[in-house]
Amino acid sequence: MEVSCLDSRADPYAVLGLQRLECIAFRNVSGRISPVLRDIAALDTFFHLNQIVILHHNNCGATHFTLDVQMDDIRAKCPDASEEELETVARLSPVRPDDDTALRADLKTLSECSFLRKDLLANVMGLYLDVKTGLVREVRL
Ligand SMILES: [Zn+2]
Repeated sequence: MEVSCLDSRADPYAVLGLQRLECIAFRNVSGRISPVLRDIAALDTFFHLNQIVILHHNNCGATHFTLDVQMDDIRAKCPDASEEELETVARLSPVRPDDDTALRADLKTLSECSFLRKDLLANVMGLYLDVKTGLVREVRL
């Protein structure tokens, strides 16, 4: 299974040359792993997954603003949001620098996940796509 940004330039099927039935892809803003960990656990129960691939890319929309900008925007638009809800939003924010720092953090998050099988966690791959050149490189912890 694969986790990637929902940006059309980071379509995992096109970037990795996969057929639709070869891989289950979770796509979210920035391709972060934390929002989909529970879904991965559920999928592993249904299908017994054999690999997790995380694909991040440069020039991501999530690199074009800061966490402060995001939180100020939410507070302005949703003044009734509780501090607890805002803390959750901030903790799971897709905002990240325009490099592979967040990908390394996601690989670390996966390596420390207590509710996914160790043999599945031993088969994780981090990939970083340069959207300008189309080149993909592997990133390790
Ligand atoms: Zn993106």
